[in-house]
Amino acid sequence: MSIVPNNAARERLRIAIQKSGRLAEPARALLAACGLSWRESRDKLFCYGETLPIDLLLVRDDDIPGLIADGVCDLGIVGRNELGEQASERERNRVPAAYKELRALGFGSCRLMLAIPEEWEWTGAAVLNGLRIATSYPAILSSWLERNQVQAGVVELSGSVEIAPKLGTADLICDLVSSGATLKANQLKPVESILESEAVLAGPVRDFDDARGELMAMLLRRMDGVLKVKHSQLLMFRAPSASVDALSKLLRDAEPLTRTAASDDGSLDLQTMHHGEVSWNLLEELERAGARNLMVLKVERSLA
Ligand code: ATP
Ligand code: ZN
Repeated sequence: MSIVPNNAARERLRIAIQKSGRLAEPARALLAACGLSWRESRDKLFCYGETLPIDLLLVRDDDIPGLIADGVCDLGIVGRNELGEQASERERNRVPAAYKELRALGFGSCRLMLAIPEEWEWTGAAVLNGLRIATSYPAILSSWLERNQVQAGVVELSGSVEIAPKLGTADLICDLVSSGATLKANQLKPVESILESEAVLAGPVRDFDDARGELMAMLLRRMDGVLKVKHSQLLMFRAPSASVDALSKLLRDAEPLTRTAASDDGSLDLQTMHHGEVSWNLLEELERAGARNLMVLKVERSLA
């Protein structure tokens, strides 16, 4: 690929992300939270890593698995649906696996689902025998049909799958669903989930034996530090030592309380990492149980 600067000496790590679309912005935000920053090329296809020797290639999401397989990129951020489709296709054609999912990233969540016309009744996979299913995910669907011992036709479409039943090109569809609004607008209803998807970090099946190995280990560690606390808040307060047991019982979604200081009047300064948002209700309950000076702080990153 001519757009890739010729730095074949693999001292730098190269990550493929979506150029524009649903995963583009959250992928960049995650990498920025890991301490990366870049200088964009004029054609906006390549971002040169400034703080770390980690560069980005901005591409269509469909190209990401192939770029990893060909060694053009070392890592990629892509939907499990896309990675899974291309992995299934390789498997079905008996081509060896070339990439694997390294981390689930918690954004871009959706499901690959079978959806049928609203007026149909769904009694299980057997009703699909002899029908035609339109999808952009023929390999994942075919493997699912085989596992469920269903003989159905798979009609591959690259877009606008949801209108296939109306056009008569298929009887039902297998497509990505998040809110379900598109299905409803086309008088379809989701009936069976084939794959739970979200954005993932994908990498090659083999480990790197050069500088990229260490860079990847550092990136993964930082990513874990960001992902782990993504939905956590740090809760701090002061309380009499006699209230600690009652307060701990209220904190069901938190780590055990840590004491940071004790004051002369016998009260303690306490803190804990709370998983999920700390609601006003919980704060008020803690207050009634003896907590004072309650403070909730955003957590950006952690290193265990
Ligand atoms: P590209 O131009 O890169 O090929 P695209 O049109 O294929 O873009 P997007 O629509 O941006 O891709 O979706 C990218 C990914 O976002 C999907 O592969 C999927 O993992 C995820 N996603 C989350 N919700 C949805 C949804 N409702 N519909 C489609 N994809 C979704
Ligand atoms: Zn795409």
